[in-house]
Formats: sequence, C-alpha cells, structure tokens
Amino acid sequence: MNTKKIKSLKMIGICFISCAVISCQKDDVPTIPQNSNVDESVISTLTKMGFNTSVMGVSSYQDYYLVEGDILIKKKDIEENNSNINLRADSKKKGQARTDYSVTSTNAHNINIIMDESIWGNPRWYHGLYKAISVWNSVPGSNLKLNILDITDANLYNVRKDIIITGDNNTLASNVAASAAFPTFDGKPGEKIIVNSDYNISYPSNAVWNIIHEIGHCIGLRHTNWYFRGESGFPYGAIDIPNTPSSLAGDQLSIMNGGTADFEFNMNQNNLPSNYDIIATKYLYPLVATFSVNSYITGASTVGKYGQNTYRLSYASDEVGINYKWEVNGINGLNYYYHYNNNRSYTLDEITFDVAGQYQLKCTISGGKYNSPRVITKVITVS
Ligand SMILES: [Zn+2]
Repeated sequence: MNTKKIKSLKMIGICFISCAVISCQKDDVPTIPQNSNVDESVISTLTKMGFNTSVMGVSSYQDYYLVEGDILIKKKDIEENNSNINLRADSKKKGQARTDYSVTSTNAHNINIIMDESIWGNPRWYHGLYKAISVWNSVPGSNLKLNILDITDANLYNVRKDIIITGDNNTLASNVAASAAFPTFDGKPGEKIIVNSDYNISYPSNAVWNIIHEIGHCIGLRHTNWYFRGESGFPYGAIDIPNTPSSLAGDQLSIMNGGTADFEFNMNQNNLPSNYDIIATKYLYPLVATFSVNSYITGASTVGKYGQNTYRLSYASDEVGINYKWEVNGINGLNYYYHYNNNRSYTLDEITFDVAGQYQLKCTISGGKYNSPRVITKVITVS
C-alpha cells in the first residue's frame, strides 16, 4: 500500500457571517454591564440567529451588541437586514442536521453493506469497517441494523445490497480520506462509500472514525458544522435535528463534523462520541424493539480438515447486554455438537474441523435492544 503525506485537515476555528460578527479576544473586550437596556426585538432576532441570549445576556456597546461574552455584532446588520438575518438564521443551524431524505422503513432499517474486494488488501479500512458498524449498531434507542457482507460469498448473492464500500482506484483527491452518498428519494441509503486506498490512515482508530462518518452520510446526516464550512443546504437539504446544539459552539465532539479526516476514534468506546449524535440517530431511526435483525454468518462454506477458519456475524454490535452464542452441530448423519461457552463476540476466530462431513454453524443473538432472540445458521461442508 502506498502512503502519502497528507496535509492535516483539522477543524479550524469558526469564522462566521460575512462581516456581521467579530469574535474578540477576551483581553480586547471592555467590561460591559450585563442586562443593559436592549430592545426585546433585538434579543429575539439574536436568539433566532442561534445566540444564547439567556445565560450571558445581551449588552449594547457603541455600534455593537455583545453576546455570549465575547462576540460583537454590528447593530446596523441587525436593524437594516433584519429580515435577511431571520432568513439566514432559519437555515443557519449549528447542531446536527439531516438531509431531505432518510432511510425509510421499507428495509425495516436493516441495511446491508457490501465489502468490495478492493477493501480486502487494506486491513485498516477492512477492520475499521467492523468497528464502525458495531458503533452504529450499539447506539441505544436506535433502530439501525447494519450488516457487513462479503461480496464473493455465493450464499449471499441474492441478499439485497444497500451500500457498497469500495476502494477509490485513485479517483479521490489525496487529501480526501473517504466519501459517501446521501439517501435517495425512494428511501434507500446512499449506495456507495469510497475510501481512499492511498490515504495515510495512520492508525486503525483513524479508519474507524472515517467510516463511522461516511456511514452517517449514507443514512442522511449532514456535516454538523455544514454551515460554518460554507456548505450549501442544496440540493440535499440541511434540516435541523431537534434537541441538538443551537449555540455558536456547535458540537465539537460530533463525528459528523466535516474536516475531521485525521481524527481518531477512541477504540475503547463502543458508542458514538457525541451525545448529540446519539440524539440525532434516535430521532431519525427510533427503536422498534419488536423488529428483528436480519443477519448472516459470513465465511467459507467449504473448507478442508484441520484448517483454521474465521466466521463472522454480519451484524456486529458491542451493545451493552448483547450476547452471541455460537454452536456447531453435525448434520446429514454426522454426530457432533460443540458450543462456545465464553464467546460473546460477533466473530468466531480460527475454528478447526477435524472430521469430514456437514456441519451447521449456529449463532444466537440475545440480550440486546430487540425483544426476541435471533438465530442465524450456516451450513459448512468439510472435506
Ligand atoms: Zn463528511
């Protein structure tokens, strides 16, 4: 794998509204008494613009209003362009935002992500995908059920393919880690995630961060900081998600902030880093506990004796309380049974079959968000 030295795209500070707002250093701001006599209509306008006018109050200072402690706003921009500011305020969201379309219940929010062969040679993207899926599936109160499928598994040819994750074949610019599509008008998720095979993914946690982010786009999340980045609400829409930040600070923890390609995910964490991301996910996809997970066991269907084989459940989750029980049954005349006592993972690592014949591999998911346990099986022929 070639690696390139990539310019860091760390988030930059917020530069906000053309010439209307001046963000001051603390030292430059004179002491101004709070609760100065400011007209209610001005306070209302500032509130609509997203400023927190209740905690720090609003003060009048020469040609400016002072809000949130150290931000000066020109009075004439409020008074002369009141209607424009209101208009901008309505689309000037600072918290989590969604696209016009999201994934509808057609798929009962079971979304199948197909891993293209071009990913396999890149272990960081490959393993990052499993962790990323697990993080999305672990969101409490969310109905998203993401599955990872191997495109070459013949048993899965007829399974619906919702999102394909593929290498970029040198199509992405060198400073872009990955890209993704938004949901479409017919309620399907964005159909593709492209990861930059050359991108200098320094750590597995960096790949995880990026894939979580791209999946977020596929299910209809805009950049949380889309407005600050100068991104247009069109043509996909940028609709505010209720109960997410409205202050100028935005949500610095959001994994959906743009410009965060070099960020790393805390691998000890099993959930989204921002509570507001969780709120947004639950808002778009509220849990229906009577729904079930449509999952599959991936891995080789035909294997040789004594070889080591790894099987994975397509539904990866590290949700609190979830349990994966793995069992192996001999079938078609083969007398065999084994169960794995302490394996609570969606992965069954490096198992070996010593006797030729046919086996049924069985995984039972229980204890998670959904009411009913789910049993998934796969037939394996050992020769
Ligand atoms: Zn993005």
